[in-house]
Amino acid sequence: MAAPDFKIHENTAAALLHYQSYTKNLPGGKTELAWTRWSSANENFNITSTGGRRFLINFDKNFSKKHLATFSKKQWVTELSAYLNSLAPGQDGKDEENWHKAQIDLMNYKILKTLGIRSGLSDLVKCKRCSHPKKNNPPGTGHSNAGNCQVPGCAGVTCIGGYLSSYTEGRTEKGKHEADPYAGQPASTSSCIVLNWIPKNEFELAIANAILAVDPNNVLPNSPTVGHNPPLEHLRLNFTGRPGAVRCASGGVVTMDNGTWCQVGARKTLGGPPGIDATWTIVHWEGQG
Ligand SMILES: [Zn+2]
Ligand SMILES: [Zn+2]
Repeated sequence: MAAPDFKIHENTAAALLHYQSYTKNLPGGKTELAWTRWSSANENFNITSTGGRRFLINFDKNFSKKHLATFSKKQWVTELSAYLNSLAPGQDGKDEENWHKAQIDLMNYKILKTLGIRSGLSDLVKCKRCSHPKKNNPPGTGHSNAGNCQVPGCAGVTCIGGYLSSYTEGRTEKGKHEADPYAGQPASTSSCIVLNWIPKNEFELAIANAILAVDPNNVLPNSPTVGHNPPLEHLRLNFTGRPGAVRCASGGVVTMDNGTWCQVGARKTLGGPPGIDATWTIVHWEGQG
């Protein structure tokens, strides 16, 4: 079954994402059909450059979940928030402004939520067994990222078996196919491209132009994949005229909400599926501004 076209993603880069259905487990043993993003390992975009070269873009590990952010696909979430904004003094009837503010607020909430999970500081990742926070800095005030709880009186008493993430367990209980889309090293900074902020054609062009800038004639050999940290090609994605397309959070706050570019490290492989000139795998995030 094809995923529904989410109205909020229409004509934006978010429309490039793929979704799959799953049977969501609800309280009381009920279930419903719901949609979740493809895992990073499966996500891929087909991009055609000016000049007609065709690229397949895919993502290493969980890059796409960590760094490609979207507005809530539930239109009603934004509608409710915009409605609440309209109740503020002087905001009645200012529909566009209220809608815009709702999108930004929800976006910031989502970015901080991601950062909280990736940094281990969020309540969302408290231990399922003993409900103590995951943070272990300074020592003794929380749960080690793995192993026993550091809270006095807890370790080995109420938390037998060590840390179990409430976030990850919650996803598994709901029936989502990917338990931990943010798995990996803890991060104190979280950066993203806001796909809904960029028209689909501009996003595709930004990727294609970044590739053409380093490999204009598709003659670069395959990127090395063996050894410790094999070198990557640097792709600079420019979203000129779209301030806010790139955002960053650290220390529990959104620290950049007006970025227009980011740079990623990527691996090239010549060819790909039929009709594809080169496959580019985006491996990691290098910087933004
Ligand atoms: Zn625990
Ligand atoms: Zn504990």
